Amino acid sequence: MRGAGWTECLLRAYGQAFFCANPLSGALFALAILSADPGTFARSLVGLLAATAVARLLRFDVALVKSGLYGFNGILLGLYWGVFREQSWTGLAVLAALAAASPIVAAACAKGLSRPSVDLPALCLPSILLMVPLLLAVKDVPGFATAPGYLVWELDKIDYRVMDRLFHWGDLDGKAVWSAISSGAATKILLLLGVLAHSRILAGMAVVGLATSIAAGWLLGGNYAVWNSALHFHVSVPLAMALGGFFVAFNRSAVLLAILAVLVGAPAWHGISVALLALGLPAYGVPFTVMALGMLALLRWLPAAAERLGLARIPLAWVGDPEESAVWNRRFRFADRFWREVHALRGSPGADVNRLVEILLRSRRVVAMTGAGGSTESGIPDYRTHEGAWKKYDASPFRYEAFLASEESRRRYWEMSEDFFHIVRNARPNAAHIALAELERLGRLERIVTQNVDNLHQRAGTSIARVIELHGNELSVSCLKCGKRYDRVEVHRWIEGGVGVPYCLACQGVLKPDSTAFGQPMPLAASQAALEAVSGCDCLLVLGTSLEVQPAAYLPWKAKSGGAALAIVTKSPTRYDIHADVVIRADISDVMRRTVARLKLLLPLMDGAAAR
Ligand SMILES: [Zn+2]
Repeated sequence: MRGAGWTECLLRAYGQAFFCANPLSGALFALAILSADPGTFARSLVGLLAATAVARLLRFDVALVKSGLYGFNGILLGLYWGVFREQSWTGLAVLAALAAASPIVAAACAKGLSRPSVDLPALCLPSILLMVPLLLAVKDVPGFATAPGYLVWELDKIDYRVMDRLFHWGDLDGKAVWSAISSGAATKILLLLGVLAHSRILAGMAVVGLATSIAAGWLLGGNYAVWNSALHFHVSVPLAMALGGFFVAFNRSAVLLAILAVLVGAPAWHGISVALLALGLPAYGVPFTVMALGMLALLRWLPAAAERLGLARIPLAWVGDPEESAVWNRRFRFADRFWREVHALRGSPGADVNRLVEILLRSRRVVAMTGAGGSTESGIPDYRTHEGAWKKYDASPFRYEAFLASEESRRRYWEMSEDFFHIVRNARPNAAHIALAELERLGRLERIVTQNVDNLHQRAGTSIARVIELHGNELSVSCLKCGKRYDRVEVHRWIEGGVGVPYCLACQGVLKPDSTAFGQPMPLAASQAALEAVSGCDCLLVLGTSLEVQPAAYLPWKAKSGGAALAIVTKSPTRYDIHADVVIRADISDVMRRTVARLKLLLPLMDGAAAR
């Protein structure tokens, strides 16, 4: 990781602290912590650096390290260390050691919890597992002050007459509410901006969480209990974000679940805090982790009930973009079943095919581009490479100029062309052709741009209007003078009947198969149509072409610059590989058969839901 990579990784870790793993959110969160207390920020940075350095040193999965998941635990340790402990250099050294151990504990937690049979997030668990034993061990050691109780309500100040207040909302003290909202305003504004930079849904849920938390505090403990930053910001707000859009797809049910969790979370926080305080321990992230894990476990193990309630738990592997999850959930009524199916794909072998499935699921206007590799699997040789059918012949007479120039060249051209025609005529569409025809029936395929001339896409069932043939078609013949078209089978019969060089019946002009000869200009209309199709697509699926020949070689660039996804399935490397969203080096028929089989499994779930 270079300098910029490191900075981004550290910022993402700050973002993870509030479910917004992007660098901008992370920068704003870091500023928020700094504005609240520079000492706390310094400790969070120590924890973050120690955790990240060890994760890198132990060669943990770079993608996870970059996402800030390991550094995030270091930050949590730093934050809580600052809140709960007397500060000293010894303390800082202990914190650094604890943070250094955190990636190992985090990896163990993730390993245990992310198994498909469990599929729950680790949340603050790694830092709790590290912090609590240490606090218990050192609570009598001089220099490590006992945990302060100020983050728990003072029991004698609490008015527990809940039922009274339930019917007297007018007694809620506006000043206490305002104080809960406005204290530490700069910090809160920075936090909210940070969340907004990542997701409007999460920002909305943070506000819902705070409002519910204030109400819950009032209901539970009266006006005294309305103001408590520990309840609001260590429990309620993250709980509302976690359940109302981050781990559960955002919809009305998820908002209600989040509100319910905050209402239940307030007394749970109070009870857990009081119990832990009796042991000399701060509540730390325990109440939040218990509540969030409990709710998610319920959804995990009661999927039928969750589905009935309209709650869709997002599988861990897909967590991260609340807006996208919300769209999916809205579109798919059987969201939980859908997520389960998708999750099953993620976990199965053939990750690349699953990545391709993912891309195609998100794409509405797919343009497939097929090259010789698509036809070689049907037994048609790649006639543009040296291994191809042309090797048998000296190519020069078959150049377009030669064809135009002499009767003898034309005779040899037709001779060769008849060989090729036999191969093409007897070839059968392979699994890739059939899969693409299926893709059209599934409503996802906009166009096929093909460099092949063998008509196999059409024979597999793809609509003729959707196939753009960059190099023409071997199965039709045209008069170069008047443009009259002939069926190749008909011309073939003439040749079988003894005609060496066929001529136009209408004008006696030169006839030529409609596949482009060497040296012959490409059909301009086809190139233009291909360009238009690719300009408007949201996914270009490149199949079995090395992307060396123009205009095909230009199309991926056009697609990419228009914001489309680029998927490449071909046996040999292409110069676009580094720009592609997925590259699969395998037989395209096998890949396409598996891909479309999976799409057929998933799309009815989506489309069925959309139709309702
Ligand atoms: Zn003619």
